[in-house]
Amino acid sequence: MTSAETTALVTRWVRPAVRAMAAYQVPDATGLVKLDAMENPYVWSHDLRQAWTQRLCEVDVNRYPDPHARALAATVRDTMGIPPDAGLLLGNGSDEIIQMLAVTLGGDGRTLLTVEPGFVMYRMIAEFTGMQYEGVPLASPAFSLDTDAILSAIERTGPALVFLAVPNNPTGNLFAEADILRIVESAPGVVVIDEAYAPFNDQSFIDRLERYPNLLVMRTMSKMGLAGLRLGLLAGPRAWIDEIDKTRLPYNINVLTQESARFALEHKAVLDAQTDQIRADRETLFKALSDMSGVSPFPSDANFILFRTGNGRGSMIHRGLRERGVLIKNLDGAHPMLADCLRVTVGTPEENRQFLAALDAALSSG
Ligand SMILES: *Cc1c(COP(=O)(O)O)cnc(C)c1O
Repeated sequence: MTSAETTALVTRWVRPAVRAMAAYQVPDATGLVKLDAMENPYVWSHDLRQAWTQRLCEVDVNRYPDPHARALAATVRDTMGIPPDAGLLLGNGSDEIIQMLAVTLGGDGRTLLTVEPGFVMYRMIAEFTGMQYEGVPLASPAFSLDTDAILSAIERTGPALVFLAVPNNPTGNLFAEADILRIVESAPGVVVIDEAYAPFNDQSFIDRLERYPNLLVMRTMSKMGLAGLRLGLLAGPRAWIDEIDKTRLPYNINVLTQESARFALEHKAVLDAQTDQIRADRETLFKALSDMSGVSPFPSDANFILFRTGNGRGSMIHRGLRERGVLIKNLDGAHPMLADCLRVTVGTPEENRQFLAALDAALSSG
């Protein structure tokens, strides 16, 4: 029970930008085939778990972690091919890095610019850190960059921070490299290329880090199979990274994550085999969706597929899937360009079959 007095105090003191927000919603997936959050569906073998927990036995939890996670950072540099001269910052998930960027570059009516439909955390973090938010619509119908619109929005708002997720979430497509580079060259502030889905395609800007003074690349271990560990990274010119690092809370990467992520990256071949499998299964799933009447999928370079269902039936079909035991993401209503759109994460072949069967049933029962 909240008393009227508490309500009055909350209204008076919570910053209006925070009060106006809706909390990030995570639906309960208990008992459902979970294909809503771009998780890797594969677990580790018994032997690998044994070796991992053996390593964790050696970790002392009475001490604070290494504040710079040096051993893990060295492994990350090696496995991700970060240029030796570039700076590197680790975050408790890349969401935390987005927040550090907003704290470092925001305030004073400064603007965060991105494209829409896009990753919702950019907007949420802009709002609760008090930045102006500018979402430039993607071009219809294939969700490519509307470069002219972006360049004029850049000129109008002079953004401190530009985010481009490549491939984009929730649409799944890559953007043309030439368009991205024009944006990097025209932006007055930092441009962050968010490569959260790097394991599922062959495009990366990591090897261009040295060539642009305002280009940063962000990645996460989440989509490659370590979502539970919470580890993201930001690479770019050291002068930027050193400033952003000042806003990082000390010990943000806990000892268990430091040791576990290092272990996982030492066995990256296991994760690579899993993500290769997901890539292959994405093509099978895409073809099955293309062959189905009443839905049209958008091509994807990530581990999920966005698809449109016919005339006003998106939310109903999402519900129908859930009633049949399959949870995916409903994007109907999230943005005008996403009317009747749903997003499914590529699961195991068996999960994908269950999803397709449930979708088939949901489509014919409406
Ligand atoms: C999932 C996702 C992230 C967040 O990753 P975490 O490291 O789990 O916080 C960042 N950017 C995009 C585009 C994503 O889809």
